[in-house]
Amino acid sequence: MDQKGYIISGLSLLLMVPAMVLSICLLNIFSMGNDIKEQTIQSDKIYYASQDLQRNIPLLALEVLNETGEEVKINNLPYSNSPRYIKDELQSRINKFTSNHELQSDLEIKCTINSVHPGKDPWYVEVNSTLFLSQKEFYHEEKVSNQVPITQLVDPLPFIKCGVYGDLKYTENRILYDTLLSEYLQNQGEANSSYYTNASAPLLIHKCPYESYIIHGDENTRNSCINNGFYHYSADGACYLCRLEGKAVCIHPGLEVFILVPSLNDSLPLSAISSIDHVIFSDDIYPGEYIPLKFLGFDYGLFLDSAHRSKYGIP
Ligand SMILES: [Zn+2]
Ligand SMILES: [Zn+2]
Repeated sequence: MDQKGYIISGLSLLLMVPAMVLSICLLNIFSMGNDIKEQTIQSDKIYYASQDLQRNIPLLALEVLNETGEEVKINNLPYSNSPRYIKDELQSRINKFTSNHELQSDLEIKCTINSVHPGKDPWYVEVNSTLFLSQKEFYHEEKVSNQVPITQLVDPLPFIKCGVYGDLKYTENRILYDTLLSEYLQNQGEANSSYYTNASAPLLIHKCPYESYIIHGDENTRNSCINNGFYHYSADGACYLCRLEGKAVCIHPGLEVFILVPSLNDSLPLSAISSIDHVIFSDDIYPGEYIPLKFLGFDYGLFLDSAHRSKYGIP
């Protein structure tokens, strides 16, 4: 009897072992299921916070760039190191943004602005940053590069260059030089600087859509470009960040724009410094010949050297 009892116990033990193994496995599957669900929720939170941050970096960078340009328009002063200034200013706004985010969630969020520098494409400023987001044992780290557009920003260069002679006048979209540009050129020892009295130029940066530039040889295209105040790509002209430092030329891919002079009568010697902003405001100056133009129905003109004539297809 005792022996039989042992045998039964042995058999039930044999049956119980797989049942126990099965239960343990099932329990593990349930708890793994919970882990996966938990991880998904946490990583979703991290994912959405990271997306939100990545959306806001270029917006905050644009805000800083815009305010920096506007500041120059008011005080005419150049920045000594504009990438550094914009990087620091952006970092402090990003810190405010991330700490607000942290208050509303249980995430830890860090965003370090590593660098701000001229884009390979001069219509953009490049912002590089490192994001770090964590929640308990989950974390996400990513390096992000943003191209921030400079279109619609105020061109700070004319304000820095002419500001010492007085405050530049401007309308919604044009700078009216009055006597300030001719005074600036006279001070530089330029011949015929008086032709630049009442000159005008665009206030805001807009990209010229007429590419390749050689089609500016067509009068309608050229008039449309000038009436719209478009800027052009230039290997010589300064990029936006260098313009904030008061530089007319720089080593980065940059921009140039036409400066219009009032219509001149033919009896005068029709030659003066070339009406391209980086020529006007740099030390490397050269003359151009007069071209009459229509600007918003009025007669205007500009002086253009042979290199710029061939760039824009103007005979
Ligand atoms: Zn154009
Ligand atoms: Zn530059």
